[in-house]
This record gives sequence, structure tokens and C-alpha cells, in this order.
Amino acid sequence: MIARHESDVVVIGGGLFGAFTGLFLARRGLRVTLFERGLIGAEASATNFGNLRLHGRSARQYPLSIRAQALWESYEALTGETCEIERTGHLYFARSDEGAQTLRHDVATAQRFGVTSTLLEGDQLHARYPFLAADIALAAFSPRSAVANPRLSTPPVARALQRAGGQVYEQAEVTAVEAVSGGFVLQTRQGHRCAAPVLVNAAGAWSGALAAQFGEAVPMFSAGPPQFVTEPLPYRLHPSVHMVEGDVIVRQIARGNIIFSGYPRTHSQPGGAVTHVPPFKTLRGMQMLARAIPMLARAEVIRVWSGVEGYLPDMLPVIGASSTTPGLFHAFGGSGGGFQIAPAVGEALAALIAGEAEVPMLAGYGIDRFAGAAEVSGKIHREFDALA
Ligand SMILES: Cc1cc2nc3c(=O)[nH]c(=O)nc-3n(C[C@H](O)[C@H](O)[C@H](O)COP(=O)(O)OP(=O)(O)OC[C@H]3O[C@@H](n4cnc5c(N)ncnc54)[C@H](O)[C@@H]3O)c2cc1C
Repeated sequence: MIARHESDVVVIGGGLFGAFTGLFLARRGLRVTLFERGLIGAEASATNFGNLRLHGRSARQYPLSIRAQALWESYEALTGETCEIERTGHLYFARSDEGAQTLRHDVATAQRFGVTSTLLEGDQLHARYPFLAADIALAAFSPRSAVANPRLSTPPVARALQRAGGQVYEQAEVTAVEAVSGGFVLQTRQGHRCAAPVLVNAAGAWSGALAAQFGEAVPMFSAGPPQFVTEPLPYRLHPSVHMVEGDVIVRQIARGNIIFSGYPRTHSQPGGAVTHVPPFKTLRGMQMLARAIPMLARAEVIRVWSGVEGYLPDMLPVIGASSTTPGLFHAFGGSGGGFQIAPAVGEALAALIAGEAEVPMLAGYGIDRFAGAAEVSGKIHREFDALA
């Protein structure tokens, strides 16, 4: 079916950022049309690790993150469906003096925002988590952190958007956007045409071109961390375990498989079609995992994958109004942490679009922070491709 109609808001991108923004707008009574190039929630929103981690965040991100956790906790009420959310808690551990310093700093920051994060050391730590390697001396635990199944997370949000009156089109790639008097006219490769006074750019790692079209080029690049999953194993690793130095994030799902996320990330292929996982990164990941959790030394990896995610140099997304074009709003560049914050991104952006007072939790996320800085420094590229 070809859409030739008018909307109040048109959203480009059916990942979590776009779907949640659409849902919260439609619940305010606005007519929303969402175009997704492929299938709803099949890119970064589906391929990610599924971590809803509430500590170890930058101070700027806590307000958004805390609100997001509350929304994930009400996911079933919001969407009428489930996505295997489990409040596992999240355990950061440190292997180096520098890592220990980071942990102490992160715990203090979390506590400043009222988030429970508790330091555990020595015997107390090992009595509670006997699977950790004996040389790990310090960890921090946040009980409210959770996990969800990313593959199940976005379609229910899009279905809730439809029930709220929104139009959702899959296999509808926006190929042309024109600013006209009083708004925008969009065209898809498949022949849809849609006009609206408000446009939301939520095209994930592919959002940069539209921002650039409106004079807001950003220094975004696409990459993804290597992921793998092991055969199902009989024991239960609870909670999510995360090395603060960054090399290991691991969790076990109810049916026994261990899911792993590691670093360094790998740059996506040109055009952002795919991020490969070099085989040695899987081997290195297994070695790091065995050093942290020795009982996993002989686990068999059965599948590897990554995803295409947009990263900005300060590792924070762009969320908010365009600084050049009235009616244009951006929500992209999750920078490796967008899954957890997505519901609050959608809610806050919807409030901003609807003109409901100030939205203080979006302070510092504006696209104007990159004005005149369209190039990514070589240093960041080197960090991402280390070992590649
Ligand atoms: C491997 C990996 C692991 C991660 N792990 C975590 C984690 O554990 N916790 C966490 O918080 N975050 C994590 N992240 C980050 C998180 O997944 C992302 O920040 C978040 O999903 C971004 O959502 P999005 O909606 O912006 O992007 P996406 O989910 O990528 O959605 C953007 C959508 O826009 C569509 N699109 C693009 N161009 C067009 C167009 N022209 N027309 C129509 N549609 C278009 C795309 O097809 C896509 O579906 C991870 C990311 C990756 C890649």
C-alpha cells in the first residue's frame, strides 16, 4: 500500500529511538507516520547485547538513564507485550589499579544520583560470586540494572504505536526529504509520499546524511563491538558481569547460553551495511572471559555477530531540535549505550516536540555541540580499530 497523506510528525527509522518517539507522540494525540527501510527493530536495536545497565554512566546521562529504567520496568504496561526483561543486577569488576579508581569514582557518581551501587571486596566478593577469578579484588554491584532480549524489544513498541493510531511502514526507505513552506515532504524508494510539519531523524548510524543535508554535519562513524554466544551450559551466571577496563561483558540467559560482548569495537564496512567480527577478536574474547570467569574456559562458541551503531566522539547521542531547521528533530548516535536510554529518549523528545515546557534531561545532547566539527579525529579511529 502506498501512503499519500499528511501527518503531524513523520519519523525516519524504526529502531527503538524512532519507535518510542512515535509511540509517545501518538499517545499525545498526534498523527504519526513512521518509515522503516527494512524491518522494525532489526538493526542496532536488535543486534545489541541487551544490557540495561544503570551504573557506570557519565553524570550527564543519569537523569535520562534513570527515567529509562523506570520505563523499561513498565514495558509490559506500555506495550502490552514482553521482551524478556529481567532484573539481574550488574556487576562491574576491576583488574587494574586504574580500573579500581574508575570503579570507586563510578560508584560515587551513581550514589550522587540516588542509584544504588555498592563496592564489594575480597572475601565478601568471592563468597557472593564464586565464579570470579581469584585475583579479582574489587567489584561494584547495582541491583536495579537489568537485561532484555533486544530481538524482541522494538516490534511491540511499533505495534503499540499502531494501536495508538500511528502509521508504520516497513520496507519503506526514505530517499528524498524536501523542506517546504510549513514542513517537509518525504519520498520513499517504494513510492510513498508524505508531508508533515515535523520530521524526526531517527535513522541510527545512517542519520548523518540527513543532518548534513540541513547543514548539520556531525563527526559520526559506524562501528560495533564483537558479540558471541556459547552453547547452553548448565550453571547460572547471575548477574551480568562486566570488566570495568572494558574487555568483557557477559551474561547467561535462562536456557543456559552465555552471551558475550567485547572490545575493541570494529569499524563497520563502508556504507554501514555490516560490521564484521574478525575471528581473532572472538579468540581474544574467549581468553579474556576465561581469565575473568575460569569455569568458562572450555565453553564452545556457536555464533558470532555484531551490529552497525552510530558513534559520536563524546560517546553520547544527539537528541533534540535541529539548530538550523524549524520542525526538524534528531535522535541518533546511541554510541554503544542507546538500548538502555531509548524509552526515555522517545519520551523526552516527544515532550519537546509537543512543546511541553522545558525538557532538562536533554540538556547537553544538542546537535549544535558539533558545529564546525564534522571530522572524527584519527585518535578515536585508532582506539576503535585497535587490534583490527
Ligand atoms: C553489537 C552492539 C551491542 C550493543 N549493546 C548495547 C547494550 O548492551 N546496551 C545498550 O544500552 N546499548 C547497546 N548498544 C547500542 C544500541 O543498540 C543502540 O544505541 C540503539 O539500539 C540505537 O537505536 P536506534 O533506533 O538509534 O538505531 P537502530 O536500531 O539502528 O535503528 C535505526 C533504523 O533506521 C532505519 N533507517 C536507516 N535509514 C533509513 C531510511 N533512509 N529510511 C527509513 N529507515 C531508515 C534502519 O533500517 C534502522 O532500523 C549496542 C550496539 C551494538 C551494535
